[in-house]
Amino acid sequence: MKQQIHVPARSGRVFEVHAGDEIRLTDMQGKQVCDLWAFCPENLEEFVSASHTRVACGRVILHHGDALVSNLRRPLLTLAAGVEGHDTLQPCCDPERYRLDYGIAEPHANCRENLYGVMQPYGLSYALVPDPINVFQRVQVTPDGRFENAEPTTVAGDSVTLRAEVDLIVGVSACPQDQNPCNGFNPTDIGIEVL
Ligand SMILES: [Zn+2]
Repeated sequence: MKQQIHVPARSGRVFEVHAGDEIRLTDMQGKQVCDLWAFCPENLEEFVSASHTRVACGRVILHHGDALVSNLRRPLLTLAAGVEGHDTLQPCCDPERYRLDYGIAEPHANCRENLYGVMQPYGLSYALVPDPINVFQRVQVTPDGRFENAEPTTVAGDSVTLRAEVDLIVGVSACPQDQNPCNGFNPTDIGIEVL
């Protein structure tokens, strides 16, 4: 194992991987979403793009073998093994999400500020924070095109493994969302191993 990183509930972390490395993300206590971002070290403006990934895979919920492609349509990560069914539809939670959509006046931990904070050594701007890949997030799409968050079916120890196709800066956030079922109303920890 090259790296082992613990991501406490409601917080973010960043780490670097090389082409060929495998990244295992573990839902430590169950029912926990892990927002995932990946950037090219030589150019932060090339990153895993949820919208381009949807087109490359031909679906909105990701499964084994799916390539996570960049905004320049280059495969950066591949979903290699583990739990299936990861959301690509939703942007990360941010201060406005809690203030406007849930009426929470006081500051609430959120994935956007988590990523922005850990990416400061690399100089990522707040405006550039891309839409994440929402690992473990269970979204139900209805026949009439609506979608809604459902409680994840993951249990403690469930994991997903992604293979890095190029060198990457990887950011994660153990999503602090506690106002809808996406984390079972109980944000918990994420474990990371780089193999
Ligand atoms: Zn979040």
